[in-house]
Amino acid sequence: MGLLLPFYCCYLYLTSQYFPIIMWHKEVVIMLKLIFHGHACFSITDGTYNLIIDPFLKGNPLADVQAQEVNPTHILLTHGHADHLGDALEIAARTAALIIAPNELALYLGHKGVKTVAMHIGGSRRFPFGRIKLTPAWHSSAIIQGQEIIYTGAPCGYLIEIQDETIYHAGDTGLFGDMQLIGARSQLDLALLPIGDNYVMGPEDALIAAEMLGAKVTIPMHYDTFPLIEQDPYLFVDNLSKKGLKGQVLKPGQEYVIKD
Ligand SMILES: [Zn+2]
Repeated sequence: MGLLLPFYCCYLYLTSQYFPIIMWHKEVVIMLKLIFHGHACFSITDGTYNLIIDPFLKGNPLADVQAQEVNPTHILLTHGHADHLGDALEIAARTAALIIAPNELALYLGHKGVKTVAMHIGGSRRFPFGRIKLTPAWHSSAIIQGQEIIYTGAPCGYLIEIQDETIYHAGDTGLFGDMQLIGARSQLDLALLPIGDNYVMGPEDALIAAEMLGAKVTIPMHYDTFPLIEQDPYLFVDNLSKKGLKGQVLKPGQEYVIKD
């Protein structure tokens, strides 16, 4: 083999010169990245499919993009509250993105003329980009229009399997013991956990959640959007590291490369 090496190198050089398609092919890198848009909104892109979770952009003081600037192929909704449903209808109407949501919320949005897929807690389903499973979330779900409250079923979290990576978006939730089960059943690469308190877990409970889930990296969300949910995400990440866990604070607009 040692004798053949110069010829092999020469062959690779020549093929790259005369058949550039080979080099082009070599440069096709499958990159999976996550982008934080403030509050509970994240984009996940693999270069072909673009997922956006809870696209609350208009009225979100932390949002780094506007609703008309995002072009998702799929929109994942955890529940119907305005700070999660956000601009989903407008974005879906413009881009024809498929909305994935808990059953009643999906039905409600379907009646508005957008494409939806209705799922429910515990159920999983394969999509072109990978697999989605809905997890429980201890919260509520409604669309509130003035004095009218339209209930939109149960809220949820998401397990997203894409390119052999598993990402857990907890949705809006309090701490619950079955996070242990979620962590035991899935090797989580990333956990996105609310820390804002008042409506969702505070940082102390989120720390226990992170321990139960055992994700390779935990990213805090759902904080600082409004004065009521101000938190110190760096202190949260420090406390994670004291428990031997890795955390990462993302600023709105910041990308996190999951896989390159
Ligand atoms: Zn919320």
